[in-house]
Amino acid sequence: MTVGKVYLVGAGPGDPKLITVYGMECIQEADVILYDRLANEQLLNYAKKDAELIFCGKLPGKHGVIQDRIHELLVEKALQGKVVTRLKGGDPFVFGRGAEEAEVLATQGIPYEVVPGITSGIAAPAYAGIPVTHRDHATSFAIVTGHGREEKGKDYLNWSALAQGIDTIAFYMGVGNLPHICKQLMDHGRDKHTPVALVQWGTTKYQRTVTGTLATIEEIAKKAEIAHPAIVLVGEVVTIREKIKWFEERAENILL
Ligand code: SAH
Repeated sequence: MTVGKVYLVGAGPGDPKLITVYGMECIQEADVILYDRLANEQLLNYAKKDAELIFCGKLPGKHGVIQDRIHELLVEKALQGKVVTRLKGGDPFVFGRGAEEAEVLATQGIPYEVVPGITSGIAAPAYAGIPVTHRDHATSFAIVTGHGREEKGKDYLNWSALAQGIDTIAFYMGVGNLPHICKQLMDHGRDKHTPVALVQWGTTKYQRTVTGTLATIEEIAKKAEIAHPAIVLVGEVVTIREKIKWFEERAENILL
């Protein structure tokens, strides 16, 4: 039997319309779709009627084990000659472990393609009226994991470089770690008045945004009960939102 093919596809940040045309084609043509929690399930409506849909968020096992199981499934299904679409939230290569999957496929000699997606660190701010760069406010932008914690010995970030060298920083997976992030930035020289925004469920009808400063955002986020998934965006660009928060001002997007 001829070997199938795997497409590692970015589903975009939330709004199903924000997938790419190519990503949509991969959904339509797939015999098997393995999808993550953060990929919008509405996209599965475009799959073939008899496509096998596998939710990776519910695969049994611990985090690392689940990833191994995903690798096995990708290989197994492709070797059965199937077209497999691996659907991930945002972009598959931005904190999506897409490269690990590509490496496995490359090692096994299975044909694959990577279909980039719009990443939430840019799209969620955009829907909140915040550009990640701006001629007057920001000429550099970094995508950073907010996961690291010093007390767990897992914080490898170069905080002084981030605090002093980057205008706009998007922290992914950072809500639970917000106090640590703010403290590290301030301790390493960032002004405590630096604006910060949290955008939860960006580009969906559940989108919520709160703003404050490095000194105040912890309290504000706690009061508003902002939780995963959210982007923590740090930088002067957050001030632009006051003028262009277009999405949240559209009446039809307000959740009643
Ligand atoms: N590959 C994804 C990121 C996966 S890591 C991408 O490119 O967007 C998971 C983190 O992404 C979450 O903790 C959150 O910080 C962010 N995220 C994903 N979807 C989001 C959304 N709709 N709104 C805000 N943040 C989101």
